Amino acid sequence: MSYDWQRFKIWQDLAPEVFENSLWQDKNALIHPHQIRSTLEGLVAPELMTEIEAGLAKVGMSLRVNPYIVSLIDWSNAARDPIRRQFMPMLSELEHDHPCLVVDSLEEQSHSPTLSLVHRYPDKVLFLVTAVCPVYCQYCTRSYAVGTDTPLVQKEHVTSTKNWQAALDYIRDHPQIEDVVVSGGDVARLKAAHVKELGDALLRIEHVRRLRFATKAVSVQPMKFLTDHGWVEALLAVMDQARAQFKEVCLHTHFNHPAEITPLVERVMRCLHARGVLVRNQAVLLRGVNDDAETLRTLIKRLGWLHIHPYYVYLCDMVKGTEHFRVSLRQAQKLEKEVRGATAGFNTPLFIVDTPAGKRDVHSAEFYIEKYGISSFTAPVVAPGKAFEYFDPIRCLPRAGQEAWQLRSRADIMAEIRCGDFTGDVPWFPMPNDANRLAALPLSS
Ligand SMILES: *Cc1c(COP(=O)(O)O)cnc(C)c1O
Ligand code: SF4
Repeated sequence: MSYDWQRFKIWQDLAPEVFENSLWQDKNALIHPHQIRSTLEGLVAPELMTEIEAGLAKVGMSLRVNPYIVSLIDWSNAARDPIRRQFMPMLSELEHDHPCLVVDSLEEQSHSPTLSLVHRYPDKVLFLVTAVCPVYCQYCTRSYAVGTDTPLVQKEHVTSTKNWQAALDYIRDHPQIEDVVVSGGDVARLKAAHVKELGDALLRIEHVRRLRFATKAVSVQPMKFLTDHGWVEALLAVMDQARAQFKEVCLHTHFNHPAEITPLVERVMRCLHARGVLVRNQAVLLRGVNDDAETLRTLIKRLGWLHIHPYYVYLCDMVKGTEHFRVSLRQAQKLEKEVRGATAGFNTPLFIVDTPAGKRDVHSAEFYIEKYGISSFTAPVVAPGKAFEYFDPIRCLPRAGQEAWQLRSRADIMAEIRCGDFTGDVPWFPMPNDANRLAALPLSS
């Protein structure tokens, strides 16, 4: 719960004013394995470092952690530490990807009217304003663009400030857009002047009613809000401007585990709360991090204490290199049931499967064939007449299902389902043995 940087030899003499300075954290971010090696000298066995280096060679996200995050990790139990697991992969924990995992699983690039804008829903857009973050999460859904190239993924360059004008023009030309998610990447890595410029430009568009600035800094670099005064002032100025116009600007952040909620985070939230800033949380359900009810309930309770609204818990998207993080739809449904009721309804997150047609409630599957780990979702408002599948991780399937994915193609397995001659030995839901209903269901492919 608390962080102690003095146990690291290279930081042992640092005063709190230095360690708790956001600029210092940025300047001392670790991006090469050899920097982790020297930071952890004497604290971990050399084999662990070898594991992490070998893991990094296989995944889709590059390495970036700051000293604050390194200091939160229990290095005496690093293999099981939920924070280490999110940012530093170990070769031994990686799994072969499900054959349906892809680089851009939400098809953001094909929903892009201009570079850096994703327009999927009728009245809201996602504006990708930067490709960098204070730290890089190994399960990032946007690994196609965020961070630097890895052997697995070469990044698309979609977020340059050069694209902003075209994106603003597009929003201006589409009066149905009333909600803009300003994300990336992480707005914590934008210059203060850019935050102000962008916020003002968006608020000047009459039909834009709501902005959300997305930043994980509240959780991974809370000192950003306590020491980067220029950036905070820029953000607050945009919020004040919005309030004067009867518009709303809020912050969306990203906590996954209760251990990320430190006294420093509480200090940040006391400041933001005093200034009337609404903060919502979007967590990702990650195996070995927060895939048990007790951890999720604790996370949600603590967020509630700090007046951070636990908005969503997402299933990990079907992105290459993330198989070891994913959990089955069934597990997500079970966890939702075990969380709901623990606290106020408005502090209870929706559990979400994200699809190219948008976010769907995990309980809203049209069908779920657990033998093959296939669930199907429809989104009548966003993509009428279409369906989108979520595929459970291979590890969760019964042996027959695992073998099927090894021996057969996706098209072949989907054809079996479409024909309605499915004879699974595992019960599925909601209505088995209804050939007519099955034949009528849309399937993506
Ligand atoms: C998630 C998302 C949004 C915002 O959706 P909410 O459910 O309103 O939070 C907007 N656009 C895109 C493309 C998204 O993925
Ligand atoms: S902070 Fe968000 S955008 Fe950045 S790496 Fe993590 S999940 Fe991806």
